[in-house]
Amino acid sequence: MSRTRRCIRISGWKSTRCIVSVRILTIVGARPQFIKSATVSRAFKNIGIQEFVVHTGQHYDPEMSAVFFEELDLPKPHAILESGGLQRDAMIDKIVADLRPIIAEIGPQYVLVFGDTNSTLAGALAAVQEGIPIIHVEAGLRSFNDEMPEEWNRIQTDQLSHILFTPSAAADENIEDEGILPYQRVVNVGDTMFDAVQMFSLFARHHEAMGVLEWFQKPFALATLHRMENVKHPERLKERIASLNELHQQGIPVWMPLHPSTRNEVEKAGVEIKFITSPPVGYLGMLWAIQQCAIVITDSGGLQKEAYFLGKHCITLRNETEWVELVDIGANVLHPLGATEPLVQKVRRMLKQPLPEETPYGSGDAALQIAQFLIEQGN
Ligand code: UDP
Repeated sequence: MSRTRRCIRISGWKSTRCIVSVRILTIVGARPQFIKSATVSRAFKNIGIQEFVVHTGQHYDPEMSAVFFEELDLPKPHAILESGGLQRDAMIDKIVADLRPIIAEIGPQYVLVFGDTNSTLAGALAAVQEGIPIIHVEAGLRSFNDEMPEEWNRIQTDQLSHILFTPSAAADENIEDEGILPYQRVVNVGDTMFDAVQMFSLFARHHEAMGVLEWFQKPFALATLHRMENVKHPERLKERIASLNELHQQGIPVWMPLHPSTRNEVEKAGVEIKFITSPPVGYLGMLWAIQQCAIVITDSGGLQKEAYFLGKHCITLRNETEWVELVDIGANVLHPLGATEPLVQKVRRMLKQPLPEETPYGSGDAALQIAQFLIEQGN
């Protein structure tokens, strides 16, 4: 493990300080990770941490990957792997095999992974086999639904990680309940997605791929759907789409940027969509749409919070959520499969309620806190 000493000035710190330079290998591969990494990469750059990024290729369509590198000015990856389109086990095996020599070549002090995707777990498995400590950003989240691959990825990644940066008090409690291992540090820094909304929402803009502006001026519902539990079972997918069709036909227009795997499943199951769809859009388009909409209806983890950060109600198309604080304060309501109250009724009810004004996910400086913590570790 190579470490070099050099002097830098960090804004806000009293004087120029001689510090140990930190070298980090960051693994990204899926859409939400590009967004989270935008905040952390900037903080690393500003504070003088040397970062190498590897893109696993889990998401590879231009609108699921390249658009984020362009819009968010992400660092050019040191390597792009080709894991896209593989089944979970094969994907993890391939990423681990491809990553290990890259980790050995770079010799980082830490390997950093985000969230709960196959790329997250594969990055952690590759790092542990190369003897490099792991940083997990967005540690401690649990759905307590053992059918979710994301839950398996989270639990295993947390167990392998050395530094666990958590976004919420509930995440801290989950880790404490499972037991903190002697080599682990748990640090609550808040949510990097809060940083991202603050950093990029000024630049939010309509994108032509989103379609005509006319109906965006009505109070519309922004919907997304991509979780396996909703889209991989034709009956469940039909139920979800039917409730959104009904909402659209009952006077609340629905717009959905369709995730590529959802599009495939819709075609396979022969489900008819009667609301407005578009291809996936970039983050700036998405922030613009959240700003314009009346309500967000989603099974996405990221969107549940973005809705709240941007002052919108959210209905979550799941039986449970990892972001329990928003449900507790009434900003987010779950809509489980087989719910007795029709979605349209729930939307109308939600829209009459005021939004609470608490901030459960930190101060919007999670990335800076992560960078500062790592610099202090290196000193
Ligand atoms: N998102 C986006 N374009 C889209 C749909 C979503 O930029 O067409 C963003 C969304 O705003 C959020 C992130 O992608 O920041 C969420 O990703 P996703 O729903 O795929 O994953 P999850 O958050 O559920 O892990």
